[in-house]
Amino acid sequence: MALIVQKFGGTSVGTVERIEQVAEKVKKFREAGDDIVVVVSAMSGETNRLIGLAKQIMDQPIPRELDVMVSTGEQVTIALLSMALIKRGVPAVSYTGNQVRILTDSSHTKARILSIDDANIRADLKAGRVVVVAGFQGVDEHGNITTLGRGGSDTTGVALAAALKADECQIYTDVDGVYTTDPRVVPQAQRLDKITFEEMLEMASLGSKVLQIRSVEFAGKYNVPLRVLHSFQEGPGTLITLDEEESMEQPIISGIAFNRDEAKLTIRGVPDTPGVAFKILGPISAANIEVDMIVQNVAHDNTTDFTFTVHRNDYQAALEILKQTATSIGAREATGDTNIAKVSIVGVGMRSHAGVASRMFEALAKETINIQMISTSEIKVSVVIEEKYLELAVRALHTAFELDAPARQGE
Ligand code: ASP
Ligand code: MG
Repeated sequence: MALIVQKFGGTSVGTVERIEQVAEKVKKFREAGDDIVVVVSAMSGETNRLIGLAKQIMDQPIPRELDVMVSTGEQVTIALLSMALIKRGVPAVSYTGNQVRILTDSSHTKARILSIDDANIRADLKAGRVVVVAGFQGVDEHGNITTLGRGGSDTTGVALAAALKADECQIYTDVDGVYTTDPRVVPQAQRLDKITFEEMLEMASLGSKVLQIRSVEFAGKYNVPLRVLHSFQEGPGTLITLDEEESMEQPIISGIAFNRDEAKLTIRGVPDTPGVAFKILGPISAANIEVDMIVQNVAHDNTTDFTFTVHRNDYQAALEILKQTATSIGAREATGDTNIAKVSIVGVGMRSHAGVASRMFEALAKETINIQMISTSEIKVSVVIEEKYLELAVRALHTAFELDAPARQGE
């Protein structure tokens, strides 16, 4: 008998009919003899709707009050799912984050889980009940309701699985697993049977939206076997694990991630003296703007050009700051470009294979795509290119690294 945590996302509980379908599914697992803890999101669109209401009152809603409100979305679905289970003869009980006691810090709208009291849940499981827990929410030491950031129900699921030492945390969603890349861009993309936490973390932070990043971090840290599955289709899904051993047979690259969320800023003709990087980026970070890729190059006239990327939402603010910096340090000019995209290849296989980056550059060269910036880590290579070439680049790389699904008969 296994203990399984099953998390169902917003689309999986988006209507009463779907909640009934989820109940059917949970019932089958329960009847097979497993102990089940279910974590649910709010009905799809509900969290956005609630935030919209708050914004009609004030542009920047008070975080504490926002949490009181948005946490109601999940409170509705836990009750409905429990009813649907009980109606089917499956004993079930719902819990809010507070009732479990998922203790978090007090950072409203982006709280971190500090501890989980598993006593109530264990007692219910022992009594044969399915426990249905509200995702995305917790409570701080003063009893204030907190939420864990958008997509936070994934993190609730994983954290509960870790606390309960569950055999598996299953994330049910509207796709049947993690793909080599977004199938909307590359129809030949394939579902991965397995991917490591590290790779998944890179994929998630580089733009793949299947799992909330923090949930993957959490799963990796506590070694919780995580599986992404389709809510209403049968299939093995994708298992996310620690072990790399079976990746011997796997391709060097596991996936290709991309995003259009960044913008590029350049400051030119900066006198090349010690401390310039700090002078340029200090004011940017003081403004709480996160910098992603950085490139610096020194010209023969002893000046340097310095380029970095930020999130597009921060572009205007960053450009203003950079222009002021240019004046104060005597640089030639500060410019920017939002017309860029980042494409990354990800794979633990890179550790043991040489020439992966050059193979990537070759594939892009063949399509005459200009590379503007490059950054690498042990298991990824990212490039910045002009946005209009994004899809072409992703397709070319998918083919170059032999990730395309074999054509089916008759195609
Ligand atoms: N309902 C929350 C959101 O929409 C949490 C979640 O769905 O995971 O962000
Ligand atoms: Mg979600």
